[in-house]
Amino acid sequence: MWPYLPELLAVPVPRYTSYPTAAEFGPVDERAYHDALEDVQSDLSLYVHIPYCHEICWYCGCNTGAAHRQKRLAAYLEALQHEIATVGALVPPDARVRHIAFGGGSPNAIAPTDFVRLVDALTLAFPLTDPVISVELDPRSLSEPWGEVLDHVGVQRASMGVQTFDPAIQQAIGRVQPVELIERATQLLRRSGVTSLNFDLMYGLPGQDLDGLLASLDTTARLGADRIALFGLAYLPDMFPRQRRIEATDLPDAVARFAMMEAGYERLLAHGYEPVGFDHFALPDDPLSRAAISGRLHRNFQGFTDDSAPVTIGLGASAISVFPQGIFQNEKNAGRYRELVGAGHHATAKGIARDADDRRRARIITGILCHGRARVDGDLLAEASPRMVRFVEAGLCSVNNGTLTLTGDALPYARGIAACFDRYRVYSTRMFSNAV
Ligand code: SF4
Repeated sequence: MWPYLPELLAVPVPRYTSYPTAAEFGPVDERAYHDALEDVQSDLSLYVHIPYCHEICWYCGCNTGAAHRQKRLAAYLEALQHEIATVGALVPPDARVRHIAFGGGSPNAIAPTDFVRLVDALTLAFPLTDPVISVELDPRSLSEPWGEVLDHVGVQRASMGVQTFDPAIQQAIGRVQPVELIERATQLLRRSGVTSLNFDLMYGLPGQDLDGLLASLDTTARLGADRIALFGLAYLPDMFPRQRRIEATDLPDAVARFAMMEAGYERLLAHGYEPVGFDHFALPDDPLSRAAISGRLHRNFQGFTDDSAPVTIGLGASAISVFPQGIFQNEKNAGRYRELVGAGHHATAKGIARDADDRRRARIITGILCHGRARVDGDLLAEASPRMVRFVEAGLCSVNNGTLTLTGDALPYARGIAACFDRYRVYSTRMFSNAV
């Protein structure tokens, strides 16, 4: 049983998919991005963002819009092709691309032939070294031609937004997809050569109770998902107006959310999954599990990952690029993104430089979230101690000989403990999701 300590969960905290987090981004010089591209001296990963979906789900907090205007979609893809060529020309030819991730939105909102064109453009522009390719997919628009294209391109990893199998809750969140549809999509992806298949699932949904959540997890295990990301609904209607269609009064309270997170964790372990970080799970022979067990787990904008590349280049509207010396985010608005790229500019809109102090704090935060422990320098320990004392007194972590270690009960509090080393949190007024 995890201890329920609401006072330690009361302050919303970042998800720390980067450090510094996106809340700290400000204006940046596009020249700094240009220089960072030319300076790449390591393995790198590519992230390609498709900000469109055929249907918009009411709970969604992603940067995405409706895909039904074909001209707009075609203009976006043209700009994306242009950005791929421009950015690829700046990356030194001896850099090696090991991973390519397509996310969104829904990459399968575009035509399968357009997806092949994007992969061809990446192949021409970047030094690809037999990369692992992963794609986020909406099962509602996953067609046979898409299966053929995934097979042809050699996509090994896919992730589907499932959220829940409960038909009433699907109605309440604006995402109706019967279990038979998910089953067919799963079979199609397996036939297409996908060996690592992730289901995104949620707790804290409107009208959801413990039994309903566990039933969805049981169905997920029966369908054979290799990975599961189990998120609590981040209900921020002021930030995401589409969420106003969800009735706040239908949402489970904080106590129920905590119980769901804990029961979900136990049920997935009972089904043979390994816990990965604080909200991912994977079967023991999946690469993500193997990375977690062997201490090679990392965290990036897509969550917990076995991708160890120190550089990620983000392509497309709102995509984020990470370099040791700085983080850069492209213009979020797809129209303005097209204008920037069309005018011969980089699409960079904001970001932040990273200094040595940021990098050592990033290492500590990653250690806490990925491995449950981190080496901490004396000066940072002294600075963080007043914030950390409540977690230490609650028996959730301890420090010995400069190593901070979280106990087995600390999982729901890991983000809160990590935030003790975040020098920006003292000043930020930005909204974050609840830790649970
Ligand atoms: S399919 Fe995914 S990205 Fe698109 S609206 Fe739904 S949740 Fe958001």
